[in-house]
Amino acid sequence: ATPTALTSATAHLTRSGILLRRGHVLDVLTRANRIVMDKTGTLTTGNISLVSVQPLAELDDARCLAIAQALEAYSEHPIARAFRSQPVADGVLLAASDVTPVIGYGIQGQIEGTSYRVGSARWLDLSDQEHADMASPQEVPGDLVVYLADDHRLLARYTLADTVRADAGALIRAFRQAGLQTTMLTGDGSAQADKLARELGVDELVKGVTPDGKLAYLKTREAAGDISIMVGDGINDAPVLAGAHASFAMAGGTDLAKNSADAILLADDLSRLLAARALALRTRKIIK
Ligand code: ADP
Ligand code: MG
Repeated sequence: ATPTALTSATAHLTRSGILLRRGHVLDVLTRANRIVMDKTGTLTTGNISLVSVQPLAELDDARCLAIAQALEAYSEHPIARAFRSQPVADGVLLAASDVTPVIGYGIQGQIEGTSYRVGSARWLDLSDQEHADMASPQEVPGDLVVYLADDHRLLARYTLADTVRADAGALIRAFRQAGLQTTMLTGDGSAQADKLARELGVDELVKGVTPDGKLAYLKTREAAGDISIMVGDGINDAPVLAGAHASFAMAGGTDLAKNSADAILLADDLSRLLAARALALRTRKIIK
């Protein structure tokens, strides 16, 4: 490659809102046959809000909310921000100890001598059927549901709303038209993931996977000859961002995601990926 063409491409990218951390990204953009996208925080805004708290045992709403708030005070997950931004429930303020985030599943800790977990249906041993049976008809693609349990039983169900990014559908259509396969890769194992995948028209949905599972998926694809671009934002995406042929972190992503990615979208604007690919194709023509 001629250094001048590359330097000018890199400068152009920065101006169009992409910070290139490693130079091979442009080359991979011209050769990739698959784009793999995280769901929460990438295809959705990750600005999550709490919609409802539904007690499933004798604890009241305020206590169910207060328990989640006490645990989520220790988490960096976008779901945690939704709990933290709620006013303290009816004056119930609880303190938690021994709090441990379990990446890809939820968070656990002790409150007043009881051990609690807030997290996904799978982590709390709900079957897909039990989880689906509790769904309300008002839930829309992008919504998330997490549960509260102690060591014995389920205590509450929380519904949270996330917003699909306005440009997510257009991005997926454009990459498909350019002949790339599209994959949504998410830790969310619920039916909401299926709804969103269908709405956005992705070719493939891989759901309910742990951070290691995300990387394992990519390695399987690679072994089959794929060249993949990965886009993500969370701590749970760090291994797969580091392992992809080329990867992009969202501007609003965690520091770990940004440090693991090959490039950073300086604004959370997915259309910049298309601009980057177009530029990469032009640069290749100049270089050849
Ligand atoms: P994604 O790939 O969609 O960004 P993650 O791998 O971070 O999701 O998490 C997978 C699932 O685990 C979430 O959809 C949620 O159900 C649960 N989860 C993870 N972290 C938390 C948390 N701090 N509080 C509650 N639930 C969580
Ligand atoms: Mg995410």
